[in-house]
Amino acid sequence: MAMDIESAMGPSIVIGYSHPKDQPFLVCGFGVIGLTTSIRLVQRGHSVVAVAEHLPGDPLTAIYASSAAGAHHVSFAADDDLRQQAVDQRTFEVMWKEEHTEGEASALMKLRQVEYYGLEGQKHIKFFEGMPDFHVHSQEELKPYAKHAVSFTTLTMDTSAYLAKLVKIFLSLGGTIHRARITSLQDATRFVLPQTPRAIVNCTGLGSRELLDVMDDKLYPIRGQVVVLNAPWVKEGCTNQVGDGGKRTYIIPRSSGEVIIGGTRDVDDWNPDPIPETSLDIKRRALEIFPELVPPHIRMESQKPSPEDLSSIVVREVVGFRPARKGGMRLERGKNIEVNQTSIPVVHNYGHSGAGWQSSWGCAETVVKLVGDLE
Ligand SMILES: Cc1cc2nc3c(=O)[nH]c(=O)nc-3n(C[C@H](O)[C@H](O)[C@H](O)COP(=O)(O)OP(=O)(O)OC[C@H]3O[C@@H](n4cnc5c(N)ncnc54)[C@H](O)[C@@H]3O)c2cc1C
Repeated sequence: MAMDIESAMGPSIVIGYSHPKDQPFLVCGFGVIGLTTSIRLVQRGHSVVAVAEHLPGDPLTAIYASSAAGAHHVSFAADDDLRQQAVDQRTFEVMWKEEHTEGEASALMKLRQVEYYGLEGQKHIKFFEGMPDFHVHSQEELKPYAKHAVSFTTLTMDTSAYLAKLVKIFLSLGGTIHRARITSLQDATRFVLPQTPRAIVNCTGLGSRELLDVMDDKLYPIRGQVVVLNAPWVKEGCTNQVGDGGKRTYIIPRSSGEVIIGGTRDVDDWNPDPIPETSLDIKRRALEIFPELVPPHIRMESQKPSPEDLSSIVVREVVGFRPARKGGMRLERGKNIEVNQTSIPVVHNYGHSGAGWQSSWGCAETVVKLVGDLE
């Protein structure tokens, strides 16, 4: 379900409407983080105006991480990182309910996920033990390349369909969207003139490196390249953590029948274009752990599958920049900014690295709590 925002909103660049008498919340950035945050705010009866350069439905571009992502809910939360565990857990609960009530229309897919660990001493994170159907694989169940493995039931997201669904919800609740590149959070306030915003929520991901009143030098990109296949017969996800240098191999089937295979984690790499040798390496690694990617009609049990076996089902290659941040995500009140001699509260919600999808609703609800503290 591709979403074309401009055609949804007609000739003007303003979509929806705002409530002129309310002092609006101004949300900067409209990836999965800005969208879920905007929805939770508007659901609380607030007037919300969102401003972003990239919007759901745009052609894929590496800088707009939300549309380039896999994406699945497989937490990275360390055993001592209670904040990350809480937002990941809450997001899982919200999405689980969505999948249960909306079925296919949820743009989510429930599936069995296997996590393989190839290095001696590697162990799963505690978070997985709370997932439905959690199971530690016995020695007999282990694949030859794994020293340890666990499985559980989780969800994958059909990213463009899910983002389109969120836009619909936001607009139906009366939210307003402007497409614009801003130079600072203060600059964004021109979209609510003559009002001053009640608060500004910053969800600009890597954009916060350059916004003049944020300039967060802890932010950096982690480049990820994936290959998208059309393989509707694949109904199970898995990750292999054997690779060194941050290389994890993963298989992420989506409800649409597409399967994302990846990936790479290249720190501080701004190359926005897919590298053919990298795609070849991804296909090789993916086939090693999941030979069932090969279309059933050309699969030969006696022969080792090769990347060429996938040629007919490659849909596209995608690059995205994970908005990583030294010290972890920034989810907190920031310094107020002055607009029209008024001091405007600022709340930050950015820097989610490779976990923005699986933590989105939990982070959005944390913003609502932080905003509640302003009332
Ligand atoms: C290959 C890959 C696989 C991934 N897999 C997963 C996964 O399986 N699970 C998971 O949870 N996460 C995954 N992620 C990470 C996830 O995609 C990100 O954490 C998430 O998308 C971040 O969302 P965001 O809304 O903060 O940023 P973005 O989606 O990058 O959105 C930023 C928004 O801010 C706007 N903006 C920025 N600067 C400005 C400006 N100056 N003016 C106006 N607007 C501006 C942009 O236009 C955009 O609307 C993956 C990422 C990649 C690249």
